[in-house]
Amino acid sequence: MKRIAVLTSGGDAPGMNAAIRAVVRGALYHKLEVYGIERGYEGLINGEIKELSVGSVSDILQRGGTWLKTARSKRFMTPEGFRRALDMLQNFEIEGVVVIGGDGSFRGGLELTKAGITVIGLPGTIDNDLAYTDFTIGFDTSVNTVLSALGNIRDTSSSHERSTVIEVMGRHCGDIALYAGLTGGAESILIPEEPVDMNKICRTLIQGKNRGKMHSIILRAEGVEMSTQELAKTIEERTGMETKVVVLGYIQRGGSPTARDRMLATRMGYKAVELLLEEGMTSKAVGVKGDEIIYYDLEEALNMKGCHDKSLMELAEIMSI
Ligand code: ATP
Repeated sequence: MKRIAVLTSGGDAPGMNAAIRAVVRGALYHKLEVYGIERGYEGLINGEIKELSVGSVSDILQRGGTWLKTARSKRFMTPEGFRRALDMLQNFEIEGVVVIGGDGSFRGGLELTKAGITVIGLPGTIDNDLAYTDFTIGFDTSVNTVLSALGNIRDTSSSHERSTVIEVMGRHCGDIALYAGLTGGAESILIPEEPVDMNKICRTLIQGKNRGKMHSIILRAEGVEMSTQELAKTIEERTGMETKVVVLGYIQRGGSPTARDRMLATRMGYKAVELLLEEGMTSKAVGVKGDEIIYYDLEEALNMKGCHDKSLMELAEIMSI
């Protein structure tokens, strides 16, 4: 393989830039030509493709978001758009593409695979919702952002002696809520993978108050069926405690990546290049298990199910007795 390209697609995540940098520098180190495709699959269709040098990726390691920009592309999912995307890869004689994104972006990569392109998927999403890998790029930064917000909210909620329901991101995966809740000492954590036990939530709050607790934090992952407003209203009605709502929103997606995310992104980015250098390599998804960088066949990785660690939820419950 002589020429490869890298793109970011779907929602942005802190650490994507570190991954781009690792792909570019790793490729150049091994004498590959490397192209950056802007705005994900949409940019590919538009031919927004430029050759990158070592200097192109200077000063991006520490930045949040994605320097290559990202997009969701409906056109890529039409036969005409897809055909144009393939034509563009052919025009530039690009044989391998590193796709940094979530499951949707990987599905797009799978379509390219069927058309003869080798795709290496790097999991770039704050949601940690890809079952084949322990962690995704951006998740750790997002958890730390939530943790810091939780600390601030705790200060004010304890001054006013009230409870606060904090809504965090994660789509159908509760990991951001679980990790931030466990490390931030939330009184209750609600995730989509577990049913809501309203009796228990109210009981924990009342018992805490009886012990002299000045405040309570309830973390709700956005995928939980009961809405944040409804949850706060029910708590207020059933405990008599004033309950506020905070929706953290996009602050969870931004910010400079943590050392852990930069390390993960750098290791995964370089692994993508190593894989593309192997003769006859087929499409893969790169991940991490324990401290080891691993990879699966792209389709196999996409078919894996289940993203939540039950033992952590049990630990969180023990910690909030
Ligand atoms: P995040 O998890 O952060 O939202 P994502 O990669 O899952 O990221 P999506 O919007 O689902 O984000 O997907 C990004 C793009 O990938 C889509 O806009 C579309 O262009 C492409 N894509 C998604 N699903 C498919 C599919 N089944 N076939 C072809 N392309 C797809």
